[in-house]
Amino acid sequence: MTLDTRRRRLVKEDLIYGPLVSRRLGRSLGVNLLGAGDKVCSFNCRYCQCGWTTQPIRPDIESVVELPSCTQVAEALKARLQGLHRERVLIDAITFSGNGEPTLHPELQAIVDAASGLRDSYAPNAKLAMLSNSSTIHRPEVRAALQGIDLKLMKLDAGTEKLARRINLPAPGWDFATMLQGLATLNGVILQTMFVWGRAANTAPSAIREWSDRVAEIRPRGVHIYTLDRVPADSGVRPVAREILGSIAEYAHKRTHVPIEVY
Ligand code: SF4
Repeated sequence: MTLDTRRRRLVKEDLIYGPLVSRRLGRSLGVNLLGAGDKVCSFNCRYCQCGWTTQPIRPDIESVVELPSCTQVAEALKARLQGLHRERVLIDAITFSGNGEPTLHPELQAIVDAASGLRDSYAPNAKLAMLSNSSTIHRPEVRAALQGIDLKLMKLDAGTEKLARRINLPAPGWDFATMLQGLATLNGVILQTMFVWGRAANTAPSAIREWSDRVAEIRPRGVHIYTLDRVPADSGVRPVAREILGSIAEYAHKRTHVPIEVY
């Protein structure tokens, strides 16, 4: 199997996928708002498991790509939840993730509302979760939609703009200070941070200190840290040893007093 083939297999073909067992979310039913095929994202992270972003989307304006409509998403989610309900399969989370950045969807609020209603009807114990790269967090419509999300898992991979740009390769229109401000003023944020070695490594002592200081400023509910476990877009990026993740968590917790979990 070539690397390209393996990457392609990680791009979701379906609107609804799973449930998959996730260490962070338990039995999680995935909702891919970005359609099949190429990923739709405002970032081009070197470690991305979906390969490179061919046409990065500006995070400060509406997405112009064609995406599944709210009606299509709601119908697909309803059908899947009804099936799981009939089969008495319990799920812990309904998670917006998939081929890119879900908050770029122009009907995000309506989709979250529909998912919330369906969750209440068919899986009342499941949490609504969103995996976001945080690039759109300043947009009022995105912030409003996130109010309906129980687990807001927001990306922060570095404590400085320079290093974040090297890791995440954001599209034009992204602003680090604006993103930090948005994260610090949204309730219930859980930060997620990917640590990598090799090209654009973010594990130097100065990088960990600066990242910890941003965590302290944001004051999230918690932080999830992890490393690569799949083929990255950039072959020059490598996973970090697990004991290093443990040391980072210990240091950052002492410096910030925020719960830091290693995944
Ligand atoms: S934000 Fe997520 S989907 Fe987008 S490039 Fe980074 S890892 Fe890939």
